[in-house]
Amino acid sequence: MLLKSLELQGFKTFPDKTTLKFENGITAVVGPNGSGKSNISDAMRWVLGEQSTRALRCSKMEDIIFSGTPQRKAQGFCEVTVTMDNTDRELNYDGDTVSVTRRFYRSGESEYRINKTLVRLRDVHELFMDTGLGRDGYSIIGQGKIDSIVSAKSEDRREIFEEAAGISRFRYRKEEAERR
Ligand code: ATP
Ligand code: MG
Repeated sequence: MLLKSLELQGFKTFPDKTTLKFENGITAVVGPNGSGKSNISDAMRWVLGEQSTRALRCSKMEDIIFSGTPQRKAQGFCEVTVTMDNTDRELNYDGDTVSVTRRFYRSGESEYRINKTLVRLRDVHELFMDTGLGRDGYSIIGQGKIDSIVSAKSEDRREIFEEAAGISRFRYRKEEAERR
């Protein structure tokens, strides 16, 4: 599974549609303080299903929508799409390319799509489960995350190992089944 692109529109510092393409090798984002570098990783977390405003560095979800400047009016919604190469079928989806889109309106409505088909948040969650990507994955290491892994309670640390070992899916399904 390879990251191909990330498309942002109306997300934080990106009022216009902006597409980042990830080619082979390492991609680095550079820029002055406050120019929006971390907002890119926030967008990545968000499209993967992040629900915690704290993790997204804002106080309410609406804060992720471009809030306007003296020259430009605020946006009414934001949308982020991440596209992955899935030729190795690492994602449990029968297609060579998988795009996940999340859209959020100021009114509070949310939409998730997998390859343009409307889905539920839990479908996005299940798609990425045990791949290391996704909301509970470890492929995005934020500031302070290493500390929290080292000082985590043993149950929390176990979750990290379960995700890495690829067995979170089974625990999730068992818990879902027990809830019904
Ligand atoms: P540093 O080098 O200091 O880490 P950075 O490039 O990572 O900086 P970010 O944290 O990505 O910067 O961006 C911060 C900027 O994003 C702030 O100027 C903030 O005003 C702006 N910002 C955050 N949310 C919004 C929003 N909803 N609308 C417009 N601008 C926003
Ligand atoms: Mg930053």
